[in-house]
Amino acid sequence: MNRFFIDDEIKIGEEFEISGDDGRHITRSLRIKKGELIEGVAFGKAYLSEVIDVNREDNTVIAKAIEPIKTNEPMTSIRLFQGLTKSKEDFIIQKGTEVGISDFFPIEFIRSVSKIKGKQDNKMERWQKIARESAMQSKRDIIPRVHYPKKLIDIKDSLEGLSIVLYEEELSFSLKDCLKKIGECKIVNIFVGPEGGFDSSEIKFLIEIGVHSVSLGRRILRTETAGLVASSIVLYEYGDMEI
Ligand code: SAH
Repeated sequence: MNRFFIDDEIKIGEEFEISGDDGRHITRSLRIKKGELIEGVAFGKAYLSEVIDVNREDNTVIAKAIEPIKTNEPMTSIRLFQGLTKSKEDFIIQKGTEVGISDFFPIEFIRSVSKIKGKQDNKMERWQKIARESAMQSKRDIIPRVHYPKKLIDIKDSLEGLSIVLYEEELSFSLKDCLKKIGECKIVNIFVGPEGGFDSSEIKFLIEIGVHSVSLGRRILRTETAGLVASSIVLYEYGDMEI
């Protein structure tokens, strides 16, 4: 069943409108008709809804909320602090949304090939759109937030919960050990280095502010793979991959 994010509140028994790109998508591509069921999501809550009216002239759809749908959101917020890459952000945001990440924080590290420069608005708009589309497709109840890129030094105050840095040179503490030792947390912050990896001064800084350095094992994963693998492992270990 197709899922759509609505900006207004949805109330059971009441009608809501879908317009813009989503309205066009329903009327033109999906060709959903009156009487068919869809899922409307607003403010983190999903509702099974019946299509009441389809207007092909202005591409709007009116639907009525029937009943709430059980949440698809993980109990734990996974926040990915991803080193700015050459050009892998679109992929990371799309796939990370599918896995269940709640926030993406692009970070400029010493070895990040791409640096923060000028206005980021166009890029941010594109990234947020990718998160929205991926959230619809993967049936999230929220659209993950993509934050403005920051330098490592500026993230100190955004950390609460369990924070881990995936460090390719960590030889004595695995992600598995860490999760076993610390137990479940409501928020897990995961740091991933860029293509060139971390500079040791960055690891030193992260450890100083309370971040645990962990290994994902002996094989080296690409930057765009590491965060996805770590997020999946955390959710799996926390029992969040159950049906
Ligand atoms: N160029 C580096 C590897 C960078 S991999 C080298 O050759 O050593 C990019 C990022 O993915 C790393 O900074 C780290 O955050 C993560 N990563 C990849 N494989 C990992 C592993 N086995 N353990 C922990 N982190 C890993």
